[in-house]
Amino acid sequence: MAKIQMKTPIVEMDGDEMTRILWKDIKDILILPYVDLKSEYYDLGLKHRDETGDTVTVESALATKKYGVAVKCATITPNVQRMSEYQLHEMWKSPNGTIRRILDGTVFRAPIVVEGIRSYVPTWTKPIVLARHAYGDVYSAVDEKVEAGSKAFLVVEDKDGKEISRRLVHDFNGTTGVVQGMHNCDASIRSFAHTCFRYALEQKIPMIFATKDTISKVYDGRFKQIFAEVYAEYEAQFEQAGIWYLYTLIDDAVARVVRSEGGLLWACKNYDGDVMSDMVATAYGSLGMMTSVLVSPDGKYEYEAAHGTVTRHYYKYLKGEETSTNSVATIFAWTGALRKRGELDEIPALVSFADRLEKATVTTIEEGEMTGDLVPLFHREGVTPKKLNSRDFLLAIASRL
Ligand code: NAP
Ligand code: MG
Repeated sequence: MAKIQMKTPIVEMDGDEMTRILWKDIKDILILPYVDLKSEYYDLGLKHRDETGDTVTVESALATKKYGVAVKCATITPNVQRMSEYQLHEMWKSPNGTIRRILDGTVFRAPIVVEGIRSYVPTWTKPIVLARHAYGDVYSAVDEKVEAGSKAFLVVEDKDGKEISRRLVHDFNGTTGVVQGMHNCDASIRSFAHTCFRYALEQKIPMIFATKDTISKVYDGRFKQIFAEVYAEYEAQFEQAGIWYLYTLIDDAVARVVRSEGGLLWACKNYDGDVMSDMVATAYGSLGMMTSVLVSPDGKYEYEAAHGTVTRHYYKYLKGEETSTNSVATIFAWTGALRKRGELDEIPALVSFADRLEKATVTTIEEGEMTGDLVPLFHREGVTPKKLNSRDFLLAIASRL
């Protein structure tokens, strides 16, 4: 077969540890034999980030702004232990955080559903895509402890420093306590809403958004109002696509999602998204089956696996021991990026290749060949699951592709 030709490059962000090993194998075994890959390569491996003073991360994000589509390998976010392990000059910030700040994007996380691996919620037969508003609220709040007898106020000044409101939060009469102030910005809520509605339309899935506006009347009420305003711009398109949008209370949303069969987009405020994304991910089984895409309001896409660099497996690999690390989410990051590139550049062969690679991956597991993390989760009549090592799993996919 002639290799599929590309027009515009995708931005390729390499990463760390076990996922870096998988990265190269996925390319060599599943992509390069079929696609004449055009990519602009950025090495976000921790060593190279350190050597470049982390400018490589910024450059890769700017390239994503330029080309519109990126695929990213998992990367180490340095902590104290990594400082000495890699002899770092600085404790560099999380690359995902840096890229998200530059693209001002929303992260959508979706599980890969295969037959034989049942969700812990048996009715969830289709993926639940979770979008988290990753700005503000308690994540950028100020808070402090308060002495007995103190009073805490919420004070707002206008642009000239003139006090325009001063409201008592609490009179700590005779008791110590805590107080907290948090914020959000209309522009950020609005762009979050736009990104979610567009994603739902693109994927043709219904969407739920929820807050607690019965209690938080002004704060959460503002989210509700902005979503309603933005939805007015999309309502006709939703009807045309045969999908719906529901605004409800967070309590009701939880109940509806649990009772649903999946197949929807759940847009969450920052804290709800933090908690619920972990719940949804756990319910679908393995971290190795969770994909993630960062979408910016102006339509730039960065695809990746939701899991980290799988350090424990990497240390085994370094000792020459066999590993069985799940590459599915990283493969789907590649197919997501190649499909999007194919759609934007109108290359049907590239879109079709992405579909076929996903299908080959899913079929491999459904026919009983999988990595070790999936074996205890797999139950399918007439199929005995077989554990393959990291590389053999990729070869098993290639044989079907
Ligand atoms: P992790 O890499 O996601 O791994 C945690 C555990 O989950 C693994 O030890 C493994 O369990 C299981 N697991 C995760 N992905 C798997 C896969 N593909 N196949 C099989 N098992 C898988 O999280 P971590 O160990 O907390 O973090 C390691 C490094 O990743 C850290 O340096 C962190 O900063 C970084 N990180 C990066 C990102 C990102 O780039 N998006 C996200 C999260 C973490 P068993 O050991 O039981 O097999
Ligand atoms: Mg969380």
